[in-house]
Amino acid sequence: MRQGDNKSAEEPIPHKRRGSIVEALALERKAEQNRELRERLMQLKKERNAIILAHYYQRDEIQEVADFRGDSFLLAQKAAQTDADVIVFCGVHFMGESAKILAPNKTVIIPDERAGCPMADMVNVDGLRKLKAQHPNATVVTYINSSAEIKAETDICCTSANALKVVNSVEGDEVIWVPDKNLGHYVQQNTDKKMIIWEGYCNTHDMLTVKDVEEMKAKYPNAQFVVHPECRPEVVELGDFVGSTTAIIKYCKESDCQEFIVGTEDGTGYQLRLDSPNKSFHFASKYLVCPNMKVNNLKKLVKCLETMQPQIYVPPHVADQARKSLERMLLVK
Ligand code: SF4
Repeated sequence: MRQGDNKSAEEPIPHKRRGSIVEALALERKAEQNRELRERLMQLKKERNAIILAHYYQRDEIQEVADFRGDSFLLAQKAAQTDADVIVFCGVHFMGESAKILAPNKTVIIPDERAGCPMADMVNVDGLRKLKAQHPNATVVTYINSSAEIKAETDICCTSANALKVVNSVEGDEVIWVPDKNLGHYVQQNTDKKMIIWEGYCNTHDMLTVKDVEEMKAKYPNAQFVVHPECRPEVVELGDFVGSTTAIIKYCKESDCQEFIVGTEDGTGYQLRLDSPNKSFHFASKYLVCPNMKVNNLKKLVKCLETMQPQIYVPPHVADQARKSLERMLLVK
């Protein structure tokens, strides 16, 4: 054999290519694990007679296996209507609470109890009671992104989709608004009611700046900017369309425009791409990711159905009060 005949077999794989082979193997392994997890999940769902509800901000791997995807309100409604014995709520804690309040006889479990909402935690019962004492004639309107205890102190709840309608529907001229100051500001611009606005905000949406949006508009001049009203007022002003997550998804699907800069949480991309695979979506900032929403994953979802933990518990006297404020909202047409 001449020297060099077997050269190609002995040649080391270039370092760069080795990296991509390792990556491909890791992806294959992950896909295989997810396939096994999905099989186990389907089996458990059947055994437990469970339904899986996933918020639009969840990881793709969770949205893929959900029975319903939606915003917090739509999912709470699904929870109230279901025949299932167990509701697995993939979102953050207050959403699981709303499901439990509207479906008190069901078992509600969540994949990870650390999935809280910093905005919901920015308002506390003592502070709200003080504000109510200072404004005894005001109606308390609370964004659904709030704890059960705050809902129990509330006259009527609202979502980002119906906030203006709800505020306009209340008797009297004065409204105490909790907890999101950005959404409150957006509503205040469009109503004659006097709003006393709590200083809470969503850490994720509030991070988006005018500079971020202007840079993206320069980069994608043909794109429309669609934005959630939880963003800062000066950012919302730049929007070609302003609406709740559900409204943004609907608008992008129905619009003739082919390209969008998206000013809401990154997980929304799953439904946007599913509805409009030929359109382009650019998130307005890489920081539009809610870390609380992302603590849930497929593995934890399977585990919570295996162990039936952690469960959501709302004390009945709190749930009864909170339910009234949610049900009042449902009556607003
Ligand atoms: S996106 Fe904002 S409002 Fe929604 S859960 Fe995360 S912190 Fe709370």
